[in-house]
Amino acid sequence: MTQPASSPSSGSFRHLLEETDRFIVSVELETSRGLAMEESSSRTLSLARRLAGSNPVDLICITDNPGGNPHIRPEVMGYELLARGQEVVINFSCKDYNRNGVESRLWSLGSLGFDNVLALTGDYPVTGHEGGPQPVFDIDSVGLLEVIRRMNGGLEIPSRRAGGDPSRLRQTSFFPGVAINPFKSRESELLPQFFKLGLKVRTGGEWAVTQIGYDSRKLHELKKYAGSNGMDIPLIGSVFILNAPAARLFNRSGIPGVTVSDDLLQLAEKHARSEDRGRAYFEEFAAKQVAVLRGIGYRGVYLSGRLPLSRIRRVLDLEASFGPDDWRDFAKEIQYQLPGEFNYYERDPDTGLASDRINRGYLESKSPRGLKRSRSSAPLAYKAGRAAHNLVFDPVAPAYRLARWLYRRVDKRRRAGTILHVAEQAIKIPMFGCQDCGDCSLPDIAYLCPESQCAKNQRNGPCGGSHAGQCEVGDKRCIWVKAYERTKAYGEEDGMLDRPVVFKNGALRGTSAWSNAFLDRDHSARAREARTVTSEGGVEPAKAGAVQPGDTSN
Ligand code: SF4
Repeated sequence: MTQPASSPSSGSFRHLLEETDRFIVSVELETSRGLAMEESSSRTLSLARRLAGSNPVDLICITDNPGGNPHIRPEVMGYELLARGQEVVINFSCKDYNRNGVESRLWSLGSLGFDNVLALTGDYPVTGHEGGPQPVFDIDSVGLLEVIRRMNGGLEIPSRRAGGDPSRLRQTSFFPGVAINPFKSRESELLPQFFKLGLKVRTGGEWAVTQIGYDSRKLHELKKYAGSNGMDIPLIGSVFILNAPAARLFNRSGIPGVTVSDDLLQLAEKHARSEDRGRAYFEEFAAKQVAVLRGIGYRGVYLSGRLPLSRIRRVLDLEASFGPDDWRDFAKEIQYQLPGEFNYYERDPDTGLASDRINRGYLESKSPRGLKRSRSSAPLAYKAGRAAHNLVFDPVAPAYRLARWLYRRVDKRRRAGTILHVAEQAIKIPMFGCQDCGDCSLPDIAYLCPESQCAKNQRNGPCGGSHAGQCEVGDKRCIWVKAYERTKAYGEEDGMLDRPVVFKNGALRGTSAWSNAFLDRDHSARAREARTVTSEGGVEPAKAGAVQPGDTSN
């Protein structure tokens, strides 16, 4: 087994990002269903062998059950590449593992010598043997980052002896990356994506890869926003070499979070009618995208689309043939937005990219007049939740001490405890669709229940899969879109994710969440503790003035 390295070796991904200014070329490979010796797997493996060490590919990134389908694990192929000295990124998606499965897989990856991990929540699983699988989503990408952060610091494990001292395990050396989707059409989708990137960076994310997209302005906007909001980590842009079938799939939202506008679809259809079915056109298009990424200061490109080495080389050779300033024209050309799409920054008329000025309409909506308007339409359940929080559940609320005293008294009395639990459910089920998880996140998500209303039970911000405000699963609005709108009505949206990472405690299911909140058994008590931990613990205190939704739980 490979021992974790104490310092990045030259040529490692970490070294390239941190010690050089090289533009990194990474290529995504997708494993398939079946044994490694099946024909499809063998084809991918032989491509991987050709890519390994071949100029100019720096990094091979291997997918993890993409699209929610069962494939062979990325580390099976990755291990051979590692042995050839190839830098590999393992895409690690949480959807198929609970937290123990996540931790055990991380120990395996670390022991095999994999350092680079792209932390993902994952697509909603869609196919499986004899029917749809039961999705796990025990922890999300932010929870995974927190587990990695603790393992990199030497994971502390409790003693098996009662009263014994905890021990620390040997440190891992993971170099975690994160995903970010800047191609969102609504303010209420885009801003929460940025806030979640902030939480990921505070939780140890060291580099970021964008979702697939075809809009240079949005890529530039992300770079600018990250740079001016304390999350200036290296950004790598995804480039998927388009063709007509893929454009159709993306246009009808067939891949969660990936968008192709109608005018880009028309372009793809037009070139599909040419002799080479648009191959040359979209290779040049991809080369222009790479040039734009380099021009606006991204640290690399993540090429995807099941590409043979010859096409990868053609794209990169074309890009190398462009003049140093050609990317400016390409940036103006490749801006495929949806009608009425929101941009955080005003458009710079000279470059067509993001200017230094923040969107005027957005700023106006945050003015006292704008807030008054949206506050009047905030839902009653939200107003009631806030009022109850301020009256009872906040530790500084007037009735907090009384409620805590009451719950302490009934804690050992089964009958009285059951009566209070039934009363709690009688309120929370009709108002919030409560599922009795016992570790309530209502105040974390503007009084929206992730158990009943989010297909992926996302407690640390939105996944990247929403489209035009709608959830990637089923016909309903994303709860984080609603949470953004609700908190914005009170001017608190900017701080909606300024808090420690939420881990739901599965052991509390079926117990009273109010009792667990008042008796410090739920995640909000741990969040209060974490805020007092110094930077050694790595958890930053919530920003002054920001809403602190983890303060109480109800
Ligand atoms: S509700 Fe939002 S965060 Fe949850 S699965 Fe749907 S799109 Fe993702």
